[in-house]
Amino acid sequence: MIPKGVEHQLPIYLDHNTTTPLDPEVLDAMMPYLTHQYGDPASRSHAWGWVAEEAVDGAREQVATLIGAQPEEIVFTSGATESDNLAMKGIAYAYRSQGHHLITQETEHRAILDSCSTLEKDGFAITYLPVDRHGMVDPEAVRAALTEKTILVSIMHANHETGAIQPLAEIGRIVKARGVLFHSDAVQAVGKIECQVDELQADLLSISGHKMYGPKGVGALYVRKTRPRRIKLVPLLDGGGHERGMRSGTLNVPGIVGLGKACELASRVRLTEAERLARLRSRFLERLTQDLDDVHLNGHPTQCLPNHLNLSFEFVEGEALIMGLREIACSSGSACTSSTLEPSYVLKAMGLREDLVHASIRFSLGRWTTDADVDEAVRQVVERVKRLRAMSPQYGLARKKAL
Ligand SMILES: *Cc1c(COP(=O)(O)O)cnc(C)c1O
Repeated sequence: MIPKGVEHQLPIYLDHNTTTPLDPEVLDAMMPYLTHQYGDPASRSHAWGWVAEEAVDGAREQVATLIGAQPEEIVFTSGATESDNLAMKGIAYAYRSQGHHLITQETEHRAILDSCSTLEKDGFAITYLPVDRHGMVDPEAVRAALTEKTILVSIMHANHETGAIQPLAEIGRIVKARGVLFHSDAVQAVGKIECQVDELQADLLSISGHKMYGPKGVGALYVRKTRPRRIKLVPLLDGGGHERGMRSGTLNVPGIVGLGKACELASRVRLTEAERLARLRSRFLERLTQDLDDVHLNGHPTQCLPNHLNLSFEFVEGEALIMGLREIACSSGSACTSSTLEPSYVLKAMGLREDLVHASIRFSLGRWTTDADVDEAVRQVVERVKRLRAMSPQYGLARKKAL
């Protein structure tokens, strides 16, 4: 945890799109439920149960408020991987008699793509829409892909690797005009940018606690209940019928309270934070490109999360750069797959040149990132890139050619 008001302190954490620190206010809110308030909200006959139920109700309201939903429309889960699985598989199996076709896109999170693979093995047909070089899906391509058999369209709000923000409201209008259900993995967007279920016309929306200064292992799925209709889901887990039958299992009360508090804090600080982060992001990019040439910005130049930078340093291996940046926490490719050293499927889908895919690094700033952190990170990155390039024969040749 980086305490507020402290000048930069090494190492510097710039990997907030992978996970965020817990906000101390969130921990404070959780603490009673980790200690003496250990009741099960399903216990109707004593005070421990009542206190826990009240806490969960409060959290449900906080989550709903942030996304413009009703509290009854929030289903608590173990995180967004589960929310995504529940949305995709739950809808597919509930609406199978109406069709077997689903639409998504190539740069979704693994939780969506792998759910789709499972559904394909079970006889569903999936359309994976391509993205353009900025990582954007064309709403007209969504329209063209819709068929009589389409039951669900799932398009993420903001991408986890590039920060690119999809034209979701426009896609939502197209999908809803055809009466098809619309899901969005909004993990990276919620709490950072405006995200209202009615405006986006979303029927289902996935959220994760630990991407927004809440605890790990808790998330939510918004499931529309009215206006225009109630949506059914086949649950992934069988059991006590908690969460309106959509997610059985004794509720993770401290986690849920933490997620609720994180949503309340996000409602409160989102606008000022977005502005501050966008300024820091510009500072980062400007200073870096002042001192380095051949730096490429991956993602959309303007439709991008305020805290996110995905950069390719030409002539440099991203992995080599990260190894050298021992005091800066950031990721190369996708954090989930980088252990396999496979190049990022997101950047590949955007048609990025192979060498630039390998040269990519993702920096994501957060609530406690300071100007001093940014300046120190830039200093270290510049120094490291220059050193690696000095050893690169390709860079030497390219420089000579440029002269
Ligand atoms: C992190 C992430 C997930 C998975 O969330 P967990 O809560 O860690 O399971 C899903 N989608 C996106 C876009 C993410 O960034």
